[in-house]
Amino acid sequence: MHRPPIDRIHLTLRGTWRSLGRSRRTIVVFTPFVLLTILAVGCFTFSDHGPRQVVEKPDRQPPKIIMDRLVRVRMLGPTRKKTLKLGVSSEYELRAGPGGRVIEANAAPLDSCVLAPAPDGGIMLGEIDYPESDLFITPRRDASIILNGTSTYRGLLRIVRRGDKLALTNHIDIESYLKGVLRGELPKHFHRESFKAQCVAARTYVLYQMRSSTSDRTFDVYDNEGSQMYIGVTGEGDKALAAVEETAGEVCVWPNGDVDTLFCTYYSSACGGQSQHVNNVKPRDPDVPPLAGHVVCNDCYLATYYEWDPVRVAKAELTKRIVKRYPTVASIGEIRGLRPKEIEPGGRIVRIQLDGNNGTNETLIGEDFRLCVGGHNLKSTNFTIEDDGDAFVFRNGKGFGHGIGLCQNGMEVKARRNLDYRAILKTYYPDSEIRKLY
Ligand SMILES: [Zn+2]
Repeated sequence: MHRPPIDRIHLTLRGTWRSLGRSRRTIVVFTPFVLLTILAVGCFTFSDHGPRQVVEKPDRQPPKIIMDRLVRVRMLGPTRKKTLKLGVSSEYELRAGPGGRVIEANAAPLDSCVLAPAPDGGIMLGEIDYPESDLFITPRRDASIILNGTSTYRGLLRIVRRGDKLALTNHIDIESYLKGVLRGELPKHFHRESFKAQCVAARTYVLYQMRSSTSDRTFDVYDNEGSQMYIGVTGEGDKALAAVEETAGEVCVWPNGDVDTLFCTYYSSACGGQSQHVNNVKPRDPDVPPLAGHVVCNDCYLATYYEWDPVRVAKAELTKRIVKRYPTVASIGEIRGLRPKEIEPGGRIVRIQLDGNNGTNETLIGEDFRLCVGGHNLKSTNFTIEDDGDAFVFRNGKGFGHGIGLCQNGMEVKARRNLDYRAILKTYYPDSEIRKLY
């Protein structure tokens, strides 16, 4: 097709423009601006739902459900309260257990009400007595589950009656779960690289627990120090959210030949100078190089419990606490003597012998002994024992926690010395690598 030369097109357009006259030319120039302005204002003023949001807030979306990324968190915290209250701030579906019969497809939002075992064996939710012993709540919007009026959780909620008690389990996407773990585990002032290192460790830990779960278990992790501290939406500060996003899907692995092996990324508050071998505390766990211990840490000395004050425990009280968890120990009578049977190079007691007043004895793993006495009372297994008549005095205490793997206080000092989260993780889990799993 014949096209006129470009300069001829230009001249033709100029002639047409001049022929329009001044008032028409003004209309032609300003009309597009007026139309665009009306359009823009309309988007914000004439919408049914107020100004249009470009990005929808996460808690206005439904909970994320990717089956192999759904972690089941046993909520021990809330169930320990005398009165358990539940609210759901959006519409929700109620089923008789996960995958069970639909009881209510579109229940109205629920104001905080008492959740309790019903007299006839079912579950009471406010005034309603459900005959089922297993209820499963899927909210229409994320972050809608409110426990005891103050704690908000993402994901779904399962309520199971066991005897005269209720067990609550939060089914939640791993990435959403991690948002509620980071501030449960770290103080707000910790460095952003610490948050990222903690995030990768916590993600690996929970994935390892999920993959190790047997089919008869109804949950993967506890919401407390038995697994990882999980405090729900309450903990979602900027650093936590950024750490989850910036490390999305990343985990620690041990490259075992051609196979990347996921391992249990244990961590504790302050190692007190060096980490210990995983099998000292968990004899059945796989013996993998990243958890072999002996990682020297000169960075947690500023931690509050790098060294702790002597702890005095009466022998009668000590016996009571140990028998409560290990009833067979009752056979040795009252504990009159304590003897470390094995001490690891860092100074921790690996195994401890309990001498009873009837001449017999029992041996416990040091860490199990510590947890019986109280993990916050006896802060580590690195101590000396003094017999003081009716009581034992634990002196020269060092470190806080079991001391396997990552040392959180050491991590923080390293982060402030500009080590990035990858370098920190490789230090505390030797021979490990970071991989993006999803
Ligand atoms: Zn340390």
